[in-house]
Amino acid sequence: MNRRTITILGATGSVGHSTLDLIARNRDLYEIVALTAYKDVAGLAELAIRFGARLAVIGDPLLLDPLKDALAGTGVEAAAGETGIDEAAASGANWTMAAIVGTAGLKPVMRALEGGGTVALANKEALVSAGALMTGAARASGATLLPVDSEHNAVFQCFDRARPASVRRIILTASGGPFRTWPIERMRAATAAEAVAHPNWSMGAKISVDSATLMNKGLELIEAFHLFPVGADAIDIVVHPQSVIHSLVEYVDGSVLAQLGPPDMRVPIAHTLAWPERMETPCERLDLVAIGALDFEAPDLARFPALGLARQALSQAGAKPAILNAANEIGVASFLESGVGFLDIAAVVGTVLDLYDPPAPTSIDEVLEIDREARRVAAEVTGKIRN
Ligand code: NAD
Ligand code: MG
Repeated sequence: MNRRTITILGATGSVGHSTLDLIARNRDLYEIVALTAYKDVAGLAELAIRFGARLAVIGDPLLLDPLKDALAGTGVEAAAGETGIDEAAASGANWTMAAIVGTAGLKPVMRALEGGGTVALANKEALVSAGALMTGAARASGATLLPVDSEHNAVFQCFDRARPASVRRIILTASGGPFRTWPIERMRAATAAEAVAHPNWSMGAKISVDSATLMNKGLELIEAFHLFPVGADAIDIVVHPQSVIHSLVEYVDGSVLAQLGPPDMRVPIAHTLAWPERMETPCERLDLVAIGALDFEAPDLARFPALGLARQALSQAGAKPAILNAANEIGVASFLESGVGFLDIAAVVGTVLDLYDPPAPTSIDEVLEIDREARRVAAEVTGKIRN
């Protein structure tokens, strides 16, 4: 394999760390161009020095001087703010990991796609809010978009892209999250610590709460719609508590292909890092005998209304998926700060989807405008719930 140049957007997060863990084991294959983070100056500087990055960018513009101090004499260039992150995204690396969380990743993902290299996409919110614009940009520049999200990476591995008409449906698996078996009254009083304690995966706080509400699966439904050439009705969701089967593709002849693996994000990340080759990982190997049995159940839409809201937003299309995503980010943030209750997160999203109905966005700037207004409306709605 030729030595590849790499940029990691969101290097200090959960996905960023897993990516760098794999790179650290194969230093001769990869060269780091740029690493970015939001506020963690010390963490970013340490990674940039350890991996010999050319450029380190901190998202908060007020932290440029501390970053410069931390990098003094190391030869790593320092930059800050949204323009700095855009610069990192447009650094022309062969391979870019898009692992910023939330809509903050939208512009950087767009920049990376416009650059025409390979973009490994973890930042699902970018596809949810601006899916058609993103895939359009990738087509225009010839960029390769590789899904990092474990479900979409699984589908990518099973989907016959040369014969899309032979696919009958995609089945996304969901672990069901920590509240899968909880009665609704107990869910009402769930705390942030309980919601963040995911049974199978160790992840950032926002996506962990999304897994508990099943909004994560709702966002992934929209993500899958943009990544694979099938209609929304041909994407099903099945709860599979062991998280061993990461997703499946059913063909018209009745064959169903699945990708299985340990619940470790380094497996799908390694797939995108080495693609189209394969690389060794230190991940635990799947022991089917030890697992013994795999269970499946239908998602309970009454206790997990976020899933229905995501399907509704996808079918209404236009600005609705971006509104769903923005309102959810506000609802989750408020829940994590002990503002609204757990069940209020989906209620906030539903209310904002009803209240706000702008025309479909035609540019990333319009998506960001819709995102801002949806957040404003969502903050009003959460404020009323708190009172
Ligand atoms: P995280 O919170 O651990 O890390 C987020 C990264 O983004 C950090 O480096 C942080 O500094 C940076 N960031 C946050 N806000 C920013 C801002 N405003 N401007 C610039 N940078 C900012 O999140 P994570 O769990 O690594 O998830 C990253 C993305 O990957 C999310 O979109 C998530 O949905 C997706 N994802 C994560 C997992 C997982 O296992 N963690 C699995 C599938 C998909
Ligand atoms: Mg996932």
